[in-house]
Amino acid sequence: MMRQRLEVLVVGGGPAGMAAAVRAAESGQRVGIIDDNEALGGQIWRGRSEAGTEASGWITRLRSSGVNVLRGRIFHQPEPHVLLAEADDFVRELSYEKLILATGARERFLPFPGWTLPNVMGAGGLQAMVKCGLPIQGKRVVVAGTGPLLLAVAAYLRRHGAEIAMICEQASWASLAWFGMALLTYPSKIFQGLQLKRELAGTRFSPNSWPVAARGTATIESVTISRRGKSETIQCDYLACGFHLVPNIEVPLVLGCEIQEGCVRVDDFQRTSVAEVFCAGEPTGIGGVELSLVEGEIAGFAVAGRLAEASILFGKREKLRLFAKRLDRTFRLRSELRNLPQPETIVCRCEDIRYSHLRDHMNWRAAKLQTRCGMGACQGRVCGPATQFLFKWNSESVRPPIFPARIESLAGLNSKQELCETTGGR
Ligand SMILES: Cc1cc2nc3c(=O)[nH]c(=O)nc-3n(C[C@H](O)[C@H](O)[C@H](O)COP(=O)(O)OP(=O)(O)OC[C@H]3O[C@@H](n4cnc5c(N)ncnc54)[C@H](O)[C@@H]3O)c2cc1C
Repeated sequence: MMRQRLEVLVVGGGPAGMAAAVRAAESGQRVGIIDDNEALGGQIWRGRSEAGTEASGWITRLRSSGVNVLRGRIFHQPEPHVLLAEADDFVRELSYEKLILATGARERFLPFPGWTLPNVMGAGGLQAMVKCGLPIQGKRVVVAGTGPLLLAVAAYLRRHGAEIAMICEQASWASLAWFGMALLTYPSKIFQGLQLKRELAGTRFSPNSWPVAARGTATIESVTISRRGKSETIQCDYLACGFHLVPNIEVPLVLGCEIQEGCVRVDDFQRTSVAEVFCAGEPTGIGGVELSLVEGEIAGFAVAGRLAEASILFGKREKLRLFAKRLDRTFRLRSELRNLPQPETIVCRCEDIRYSHLRDHMNWRAAKLQTRCGMGACQGRVCGPATQFLFKWNSESVRPPIFPARIESLAGLNSKQELCETTGGR
């Protein structure tokens, strides 16, 4: 097994992780950053580093400050201050003195009849596939769910030749208007908003709307939308659907970091409740790229002991956190969405567990034990947040390996015994 010793290890190469790594390395720390994607940049930049962009600026600084860039996915903590990462063809042991977790967020999916049909995809997921080469030219796409990501995705797909049949946003006009007013105090957000408005000119945008059923044989052919109390069926080739984002807190959980309302609790300097472990970006709350960057910078300064420089950024972070709170309030899921699944609707798509098999259980643990809900390949990453919303279950429990890992990676561990015990019965 490859072993590497680092002063500072950053997990996650999105905006937060890159900013943290740069600030720590520029402060003289020996820094490694690990991400499970081909290229750095996280969900928003995904390796796009055209000269002159913000992404390229951070990547250039990262390279010139000597940060060691590693590829792999952290899946286990065999002992304190050691993490294991698996890549395509090897497993790596990383020991660190200080750790910065910047593991980002993922989309939240809610089950409704037909949501498992081919070509019903996460909004960000479809965007990512198009970025990786999926042809979308001339395809008719309905974008549905909630949150600002819907607009970003619709604009992106339209730029690449898709016909956006409709954008369906579950939030009401009133809350969107309130959010729009709040944007007036954030000049950069106004600019982004106007740009999206221009790009989406002529596209149907409907608040108070959500998908109730997707239909098709081999793939989706149409989606029925509940729109201001009435039903409307729209023909489409794709349904890009996401209900805002959920913080990725599996690695912080396995390290024992305290979680508050689904997010990692941090102090002013982005320190978690575990000594020498910091956290930045979306695991501490969903707030957008600017907040991720500033939290990353604070964590990078703090890990290097430059607390004065870190505290200069507190004001900026506070303003962006206020924006994050408004985001949360505006795009909070309405209770009607709890009625979307029918008894036969699959909720856990890894294990094919239907709504009728789950609704009578008391909690997440009982449902797991009785049905295997959340015990498949995604380990509850999709159905966990869905059942949290549908049944108010707390699905915040994680056991190593955090992600599915190869048998040979597990077999190479010193702590074989521990893994045998903790993975038994899965
Ligand atoms: C699917 C999706 C698409 C998005 N598209 C847009 C968009 O078009 N425009 C926009 O403004 N915002 C978009 N966002 C929101 C945007 O990602 C955030 O606002 C912000 O960029 C988050 O930055 P971050 O560094 O906190 O996290 P991320 O950018 O999510 O970076 C976290 C990184 O950590 C990696 N990671 C996680 N766990 C591990 C592990 N165990 N081991 C190794 N690596 C790990 C992830 O793969 C990821 O690369 C999107 C979000 C999602 C989920």
